[in-house]
Amino acid sequence: MEVILAKYGEIALKGLNRSSFEDLLIRNIKRRLAPLGSFDITRRQSTIYVQPMSEDIDLDIAVKKMCNIFGIAAVQRCAVLPKDISRIIEQGTVYLKDTLENAKSFKVEAKRSDKSFPLTSPQIQQELGGALAEAFPDIAIDVHNPEVTVLVEIRDKGAYLNAEKLTAAGGMPVGSNGNALLLLSGGIDSPVAAYMMAKRGLRVDAIHFQSPPYTSERALMKVESLCEKLTEYCGDIRFYCVPFTEIQEALRDNCCGDYFTVIMRRLMLKIANHFCEKKHYGALITGESVGQVASQTLAAIGCTDKAADYPVLRPLVGMDKKEIVEIARKIDTFETSVLPYEDCCTVFTPKHPKTKPLFKDILLEEEKFDFEPLILKAVNQTAVKDFKADGNN
Ligand code: ATP
Ligand code: MG
Repeated sequence: MEVILAKYGEIALKGLNRSSFEDLLIRNIKRRLAPLGSFDITRRQSTIYVQPMSEDIDLDIAVKKMCNIFGIAAVQRCAVLPKDISRIIEQGTVYLKDTLENAKSFKVEAKRSDKSFPLTSPQIQQELGGALAEAFPDIAIDVHNPEVTVLVEIRDKGAYLNAEKLTAAGGMPVGSNGNALLLLSGGIDSPVAAYMMAKRGLRVDAIHFQSPPYTSERALMKVESLCEKLTEYCGDIRFYCVPFTEIQEALRDNCCGDYFTVIMRRLMLKIANHFCEKKHYGALITGESVGQVASQTLAAIGCTDKAADYPVLRPLVGMDKKEIVEIARKIDTFETSVLPYEDCCTVFTPKHPKTKPLFKDILLEEEKFDFEPLILKAVNQTAVKDFKADGNN
């Protein structure tokens, strides 16, 4: 039998409310693994045990999924063996065959959590290490810098044996730090921003502004597919799709084009405010990064911010595009993000956007048209769709 062990990340530092973090993490793991089959998930001694309940479950996929769950620092796939040194040696030799035959050096690291086990940790290391060295004569014992570290832990329910500990996503369990609303475009940056805030324990929903017929059905499908990909890290995501055409046209027809982008961004935030208030999101998230484009100068960000009634989190604010792209590739959103469909931000963009807009000038421009009725109309006509981490969309 094999099980997967998950070791905590930052939760381990929590005090009194630690068990509520652990319960939340277990719930998240359950949902994320649900599409693969049924698992028994329990916790003991700062470790979560994930045991498949049927033979046909693909543990490779389960391990991969668990490495993407925030709150888990490391994942180990283990054989559960009887607590008897001769059987640990016998069955362990078979279990580790592939790994040890293909490596140059190894060592055994033993940990005896169950103190009633007759051998001490150093004794276990010696016995198992010696037996493995005999069984695989081509591999050397190297206690200082081994290629493979064989871990054996004597725990309550058995001896857990494993040869690799995978680094997992780290961070805090999604949902442990509240809810936030992501402004999701189809670009490279905003999906990465979602990933980064989910890592800090935020449950993230997404709001998208679309302007048909200037933006196409395919552009919307692209954003929806980003949402679906993000569930791998963020868990369930509620997706709000706001009709933005009328507002953009009113802006084009009534206000000076040089301010178009900043005012448009402010209108997006004003609409997002409504959802924060109704649905209790504690913050907004955007994919902005200082200086990346004209609307992301300090002056522009300053004017934009004033439209938000909630904190605007910008996890990419100090990152280079190259660093952002690296994460986008890692979380598999990059290829989708670079599909060449238009975003509402690329519609009606001015030739000479103001890079240093003054707030008083923005207000003067906004006074030329009463956007409030259109904002309310857009909020009321917003379509909602749920993307579920357990695959039941
Ligand atoms: P991204 O790669 O995320 O699109 P970007 O570098 O292209 O970012 P902008 O197009 O200026 O930058 O957008 C800045 C931020 O504004 C985005 O990261 C996103 O949070 C938000 N945003 C832009 N367009 C939309 C949209 N159509 N719907 C929702 N949010 C949007
Ligand atoms: Mg964009």
